[in-house]
Amino acid sequence: MRTPIVAGNWKMNLTQADALTLGRAIAEGAPTRGVTAIVAPVALHISALGEALASSPVLMASQNAHWAESGAYTGELAAPMLRELGVRYAILGHSERRQYFGEDDEGVNRKTRALLAQGLHPIVCFGESLEEREAGRTRDKVEFQVRAALAGLSADEARRVILAYEPIWAIGTGKTASPQQAQEVHAFLREVLQARFDRETAQTMPILYGGSVKPSNFAELLSQPDIDGGLVGGASLKAESFLELCQIA
Ligand code: 13P
Repeated sequence: MRTPIVAGNWKMNLTQADALTLGRAIAEGAPTRGVTAIVAPVALHISALGEALASSPVLMASQNAHWAESGAYTGELAAPMLRELGVRYAILGHSERRQYFGEDDEGVNRKTRALLAQGLHPIVCFGESLEEREAGRTRDKVEFQVRAALAGLSADEARRVILAYEPIWAIGTGKTASPQQAQEVHAFLREVLQARFDRETAQTMPILYGGSVKPSNFAELLSQPDIDGGLVGGASLKAESFLELCQIA
């Protein structure tokens, strides 16, 4: 049985004061069981937010991480540094990172392996553009991205990875994939995972949906058999809606 996950990707938003206010409100209201609640602040706020969340069930993710343990990589964040501050997850390969910062599948794979080696859980993002969907290339695209991200992993390692299907055309646009559209891709991904690893691994790995998730559409998305939670942007920036998503899960 996969525990539902609600992961808030705060992206490059909120002052530290606002992030702490939001974090405290979420920490107070988050359910202590039945759902894994995760928030991903900007790196700069991880340390302070970690203290605010310390005795709550809410866990922290970073929005990125580098593959090296340390070294000459100006501007980057290493997994051991994140772990030291209580971070348990890292979002990798978000489409915004791929689009604006040149991240590619090989880099996502290196980071995935490095995070696993450091005891963190990667949240690996992937998804098709509108053009790719309209050209009937959705399956090819997501299979390629997922296989590339998980290249070289054992089944045991793969089970510590969270996948996040985020169709690019649904991110920040208000256009959610319909529950059926999302389910179709998630079910297909389970087949890919089964072919790549084994049935148990495919059934164990959580697959989140992301792209304009909000309280009004989440229940129906989550009711799909292969959708295990949401990676949420806009609706995670308000305590009310984030907590409502946690309640729905
Ligand atoms: P929105 O929920 O704002 O569409 O963002 C989705 C997303 O990119 C989460 O990583």
